[in-house]
Amino acid sequence: MLRVYKFGGTSIQDAEAIRHLGELLAEKVPRPRAMVASAMGKTTNALEALLQAARQDDAPAYRRRLAAIRDDHLGVAEALFGPSAAVAEPLARLLDELDAAHRAHRQAPYPFHYDQTVGVGELLSTTLVAAWLNQSGVPTRWCDARELILTDDRHQAANIDWSATWERIAALAPTGDEVLLTQGFIGATVDGAMTTLGREGSDFSAAILAEALDADELTIWKDVPGLFNADPRRFANARQIARLSYAEALEQTWHGAKVIHPRTLAPLQRRGIPLTVRSFLEPEAAPSIIGPEPGEGDTLPACMLRDDQLLLEVSPSDGSFVDEALMAEVLTRLAEAGLHANLIDVEALRLRLAVDHQPERLAPALEALAERFAMARHDDLILLTVRHPDEALLDALDGGRTRVAERRNATTAQRLYLAAECPDSWRFPE
Ligand code: ADP
Ligand code: ASP
Ligand code: MG
Repeated sequence: MLRVYKFGGTSIQDAEAIRHLGELLAEKVPRPRAMVASAMGKTTNALEALLQAARQDDAPAYRRRLAAIRDDHLGVAEALFGPSAAVAEPLARLLDELDAAHRAHRQAPYPFHYDQTVGVGELLSTTLVAAWLNQSGVPTRWCDARELILTDDRHQAANIDWSATWERIAALAPTGDEVLLTQGFIGATVDGAMTTLGREGSDFSAAILAEALDADELTIWKDVPGLFNADPRRFANARQIARLSYAEALEQTWHGAKVIHPRTLAPLQRRGIPLTVRSFLEPEAAPSIIGPEPGEGDTLPACMLRDDQLLLEVSPSDGSFVDEALMAEVLTRLAEAGLHANLIDVEALRLRLAVDHQPERLAPALEALAERFAMARHDDLILLTVRHPDEALLDALDGGRTRVAERRNATTAQRLYLAAECPDSWRFPE
């Protein structure tokens, strides 16, 4: 049985978590052939903040943030291996390279600068984890994902060169007992520039590896026992789903179920590789399984929330009506900026779109659109998407809040609410 595992940031967030991972792999679960790991804890957010400081030429903030990332990683190394740990040297080298990359790319376009720096989190974490697993009796070979995952140069959301990637992964030498450990989230262009696959993209990396190795199973280890019909942190009475199809999992993740990256599903579906979502905290608990066959999750109502939404209203400035040319231009601008329209609503005189509020990406797109069209925006919104809704559920969830926009088809209802009117904790009606 050829298994591929993916461990996210939470499962390796500190020394204690990494020790727990070592025990899990050494004693409690079957050995995988290959593993993908994310950056430790919230390192990717910290690297984004470091990038911000570099872009704004805020030298004190930059130095403070870089020191915090350094302390975090060297501190975990010391907690695991004691003072003067051998792993401190490759970690320090990676941190120096990160600093050098910031200096070299400060004037480069934002997405390129992002990818040369933010992807370092996974290089740091896997360096630490490989050293710890080797010490814990799990022979582990560290592989550089930049030599495995070949992409184009669409920075921050790179497209995979599938056949080259499959060839490179297939050409990896046989491992014997060794577990291959590589980084999630990153790849490289043919010129060797680091690229990233989109936030939360490590799940996708694991699926690429599983497909290329023709794995029997991909397991994504989480701090929850599986996939629920809503984020259990946001919906007090969310229920775990035992089984659902790739197609339904794609719908739910595409609409914002943040437990798995939506790009994960296609590679698995192509080879019919089942995806198991399990808890690293309770490895014996019943997991969720996503596969070719539908399960109860294909009909159970499910809710997804997207925070920090912006509603854009675009109208022709010459008094004519919305036509295909306008729609094409608006959507093209958004796509070029790497933005996804989470809700689209067309009327004669205005096209309305909800997008994630990402100022760096939005600013150039909005500027270009404002030159051609009349624009309005509404900030601070939350998008609720309900799969397989019924009226009673929608009414109960709605609670009489202001609906800024909505959309409905046979299987999905979407409602855009003012964040200020939404509760912190939601509930399905009992
Ligand atoms: P990772 O450590 O792999 O990055 P994440 O924190 O990204 O893990 O994903 C796990 C979290 O996803 C859970 O703690 C949970 O709060 C959240 N989550 C969001 N939607 C769902 C869902 N539908 N089912 C289960 N968990 C969900
Ligand atoms: N570290 C990256 C992120 O936080 C990728 C991942 O964790 O999947 O987005
Ligand atoms: Mg994550």
